[in-house]
Amino acid sequence: MTTTVQPRKIVVLSGSGVSAESGLPTFRDANGLWNNHPWQELASPEGWQRHPETVQAFYNERRQKAWAAQPNAAHAAIASLEPAYEVVIVTQNVDALHERAGSTQVLHIHGELAYARGTSPRRHRYRIDGAPIEMGRLCEDGTQLRPDIVWFGESVQHFDEALMHVTTAARVLVVGTSLAVQPAASLARYAHQSAEKVLVSLEMEQVPRGFVFMRGKATEQVPALVARWLAEAQRTGN
Ligand code: NAD
Repeated sequence: MTTTVQPRKIVVLSGSGVSAESGLPTFRDANGLWNNHPWQELASPEGWQRHPETVQAFYNERRQKAWAAQPNAAHAAIASLEPAYEVVIVTQNVDALHERAGSTQVLHIHGELAYARGTSPRRHRYRIDGAPIEMGRLCEDGTQLRPDIVWFGESVQHFDEALMHVTTAARVLVVGTSLAVQPAASLARYAHQSAEKVLVSLEMEQVPRGFVFMRGKATEQVPALVARWLAEAQRTGN
């Protein structure tokens, strides 16, 4: 079966680098110790079982910092594409900076700090924005509320939907991700052969095939790219 590319569709695959200039540390920068706990202990079901109070406190702090941060020029530029294009953002980020900049279609494949959920597999979700989750606060199914974050070993969310969007986009922008975490990283490989494919990052060990590498800060490179794409949309009449 051949895939039909939608000329007005843009998919943005974003990672923690797009939020770095809003003051949130990237995965690599944050990948050390937090109060003497290694990252793996804070982002795994096993860690949650061993010391839920510590894991809860860690995400409460991250949620508070993410909520205090402001969208930057890269988030704003991506949001400004919407009048001219259908834009779908597939993000590994757990902050809400794309939405807060005005983007309306955001798939959080690694979950969202702004939501809490129960601990059982029955997934009730509650919107909490920047508020902390207290230990002892229960989901309606009686289980302890935890952050709605995809931990190591848990299944990513919205993957099939993300894949469908990537394969049908005429333009694909990868920004601020080292493409090291699977299966999120694999999505870039599914961009259509005919799609314009751009990667914005400070550094990249291996640029995926077919991508043009724009090395530099997201807040500088993304607005420049977006300005070109908006001008192209205007020229082709929209
Ligand atoms: P990563 O740390 O592996 O890679 C970040 C990439 O962004 C690097 O390639 C780096 O060169 C680039 N970068 C850094 N600053 C940049 C800037 N100003 N402009 C452009 N590029 C910049 O991060 P990742 O690939 O997103 O790792 C994935 C994991 O980290 C995910 O699981 C995600 O859930 C988690 N995470 C999310 C957040 C957040 O929501 N803001 C923060 C930290 C970690």
